[in-house]
Amino acid sequence: MAPPPSPIRVFSGIQPSGELHIGNYLGAVQNWVKLQYERDCLFCIVDLHAITQPYEPGTLGPLTVDMAVSLLAAGLDPARCIVFVQSHVAEHTELNWLLTTITPLGELERQTQFKDKSQRQESIPAGLLAYPVLQAADVLLYKASLVPVGEDQVQHLELMREIARRWNARFGADFFPEPQPLLTRTRRVLGLDGKAKMSKSLGNTVGLFDSPETIWEKLRPAATDPARKTRKDPGTPEICNIFTLHQGFSPPATVEEVAVKCRTAGWGCLDCKRVLADNMIAALAPMRERAEALRREPASLLERLRDGAGKARALARRTVAEVRDRMGFLKVGAD
Ligand code: SF4
Repeated sequence: MAPPPSPIRVFSGIQPSGELHIGNYLGAVQNWVKLQYERDCLFCIVDLHAITQPYEPGTLGPLTVDMAVSLLAAGLDPARCIVFVQSHVAEHTELNWLLTTITPLGELERQTQFKDKSQRQESIPAGLLAYPVLQAADVLLYKASLVPVGEDQVQHLELMREIARRWNARFGADFFPEPQPLLTRTRRVLGLDGKAKMSKSLGNTVGLFDSPETIWEKLRPAATDPARKTRKDPGTPEICNIFTLHQGFSPPATVEEVAVKCRTAGWGCLDCKRVLADNMIAALAPMRERAEALRREPASLLERLRDGAGKARALARRTVAEVRDRMGFLKVGAD
């Protein structure tokens, strides 16, 4: 039997970008599945964050459903962790506003992600600037002390800690824990082109639920170490994205064998990819089956999200009630 989860709380969010690809899975979600057995975890589909970029209202809901299917099929178990949609818990937006009032504008303007993203927009919405405040609200609402983050989010986490410190100093020492980054050994998976990060917008992904045929069709032409021009040329596995994927999907003995055969030109890249494809297909098959089962029962999926939101809301309400109290808002009795 699994040990009972420790009281250390973990919060992490993911945008509703549709079905997961193997880059999201190896880079974050695989680790979340492990964490749910070790910690008290909340995993949130952050649709309120998603709308800070141009989007289609007609696709937001379906993309949120696709992400929920992906997370549950990948192994998040609502009996072990709370999985929910951010906009279903209104306290996120309430705490967001309350924290906005103590967040220094200069800090927001200094955020690298804001600078990058705002350059791409003709008219910059204030929500893009305030994005890290909503992230702080997401985490502080549950008094989570650990946040699994990628390198690109470390600056936002620093700001989150600054916001917690400022609020605590003004309204209540030690009320909010200062969240710490949970820097785990995750793999940076490149796209099949071997150039950029795996990303749907670049069309270089393998979907978590791709069929075995599609997986092989995509892997066959994927980039490898360019030094292996012919089968006789030795390669360097560490610089090959196919090797990174082996580390994600193949057993350790196979990973070792791949490295040796690559360095000694003991096999061709196509042989190497075939072994990877077989291991990937075997690992993803149960997830694809779970996703199909979830899609057959849309009402039950929504029910699980409602349950998740209910559990999250119960925690969030307690925090917001205390925050309101400490900030001095007038109380008129129970709702
Ligand atoms: S043998 Fe495998 S690890 Fe080596 S370059 Fe080819 S695909 Fe990459």
